[in-house]
Amino acid sequence: MEHVVIIGNGIAGVTAARHIRKKSDKRITIISSESKYFFSRTALMYVYMGHMRFEDIQPYENHFWKKNRIDLIEDYVDEVDFQSKTLKLLQTPPIHYDQLILATGSKPNKFGWKGQDFHGVQGLYSKKDLDLMEQNTRGISEAVLVGGGLIGVEMAEMLLSRNINVTFLIREKTFWGNALPESDSNFVTQHLNRHHGLTLLFEEELDEIIPDNSKRVKEIKTKSGKIIPCQFVGLAAGVSPNIDFLKKSELETDKGILVNPDLSTNQKDVYAIGDCAQFRTPINDRGPVEQVWYTGRMMGETVAQTIVGNKLNYQPSHWFNSAKFFDLEYQTYGRVWAKPKDNETSFIWKNDKEEVLLHFVFDKDSKEFKGINTFGLRLRHELFEKWLNEKATIQHVLKYLKTANFEPEFFKHFEKEIVESFNQEFDEKVELAPKKWWGKLMKDKV
Ligand SMILES: Cc1cc2nc3c(=O)[nH]c(=O)nc-3n(C[C@H](O)[C@H](O)[C@H](O)COP(=O)(O)OP(=O)(O)OC[C@H]3O[C@@H](n4cnc5c(N)ncnc54)[C@H](O)[C@@H]3O)c2cc1C
Repeated sequence: MEHVVIIGNGIAGVTAARHIRKKSDKRITIISSESKYFFSRTALMYVYMGHMRFEDIQPYENHFWKKNRIDLIEDYVDEVDFQSKTLKLLQTPPIHYDQLILATGSKPNKFGWKGQDFHGVQGLYSKKDLDLMEQNTRGISEAVLVGGGLIGVEMAEMLLSRNINVTFLIREKTFWGNALPESDSNFVTQHLNRHHGLTLLFEEELDEIIPDNSKRVKEIKTKSGKIIPCQFVGLAAGVSPNIDFLKKSELETDKGILVNPDLSTNQKDVYAIGDCAQFRTPINDRGPVEQVWYTGRMMGETVAQTIVGNKLNYQPSHWFNSAKFFDLEYQTYGRVWAKPKDNETSFIWKNDKEEVLLHFVFDKDSKEFKGINTFGLRLRHELFEKWLNEKATIQHVLKYLKTANFEPEFFKHFEKEIVESFNQEFDEKVELAPKKWWGKLMKDKV
């Protein structure tokens, strides 16, 4: 019987295993050094904050794996011999594969900061990191976070939940400036500034971490010379593919493991999926490396088809993502670039009191809708997907915006105001669909 071996039991590897099992009788083994059972990485913060126990973030019962004939090995793969199709592990005898799926995820970036290995300094990626954070933050009162992105915000929320004051060092002029346009960054910053105990320092970089006698961090120095006392430093300056153990092999890698549209690599019967994969040719306007949960799941589903004999290319649709900045919800559909493209223009509407901002992007000439960032309001994914597929105009999107709203009752206060504001700013006017239509429109999802 053919043996499919998967390195990595995150969302990508586990989805591949489940879908291969659904469609075949192949022998399946998943190897991971992090934990025996799959857990939801995105929910680690809730364990620290006491909202959930670690068991609660494991989506499957422990007996699921045996029942589905998926063997689990908790060990680290040290080396892959692609010629003999053999994996060398630290504690387990070598394993032969017929097909290999690399789903090894990411690791937090460390940029060689002076003092980055002292006690009390860490990133947040793995279960081990969570346990370490638990130890490192016990009884402390001040923390510094380095890098303004989504994981940094989560760490800030975690620390504040334990009354630990946080100073956030952000290298850029604005918050998450490589992903958000300035208007949106400023809006998020306003929200973050409302949280007592959180201080944001822009255009500040870590220079050095300074320890006490027991090699535990006692303060940090910034490049501008500020000294900030702290007992914890969180490194949240992004992640990169976790592929060091493969670097000396004949597997072709760059930032990640280079893959073709069907997720195959340059080695026979070897595929890479999830955070560790890098597309040789990026798909449409997506980046070459996609480090989000749902793309890992989609790649897992795709590779499973190929493994069971229905060769399939990874064909994601329009870009979308969602996150939370404390209690401010953020969603993005289509593309809202941090710096708009030449032919694009924006319409931004916000209500500071209610903490809602909508940022629409459309083509200057054709008026084709290109993307939206929403803050403080949840809008329906399937409708934006439809409008992007149909190349709907900005006027169409605004006219029917109400149908995309998850919370119509709440939203009815805004939609007229949004359209009026658009009509004031732009020449092409939008007419709201008459009120009597709304019932039908909501049903038909125009
Ligand atoms: C704190 C945090 C919050 C996040 N929040 C969000 C969010 O809200 N929304 C979102 O879309 N994304 C979020 N992400 C990103 C998302 O979690 C990742 O994109 C996703 O989990 C990656 O899945 P994966 O299967 O590719 O890899 P991983 O989940 O990283 O799994 C890879 C596994 O392989 C193991 N492994 C690696 N090398 C070896 C080896 N040589 N031998 C054995 N085992 C090995 C690793 O230990 C790991 O367990 C978050 C990430 C973090 C860290």
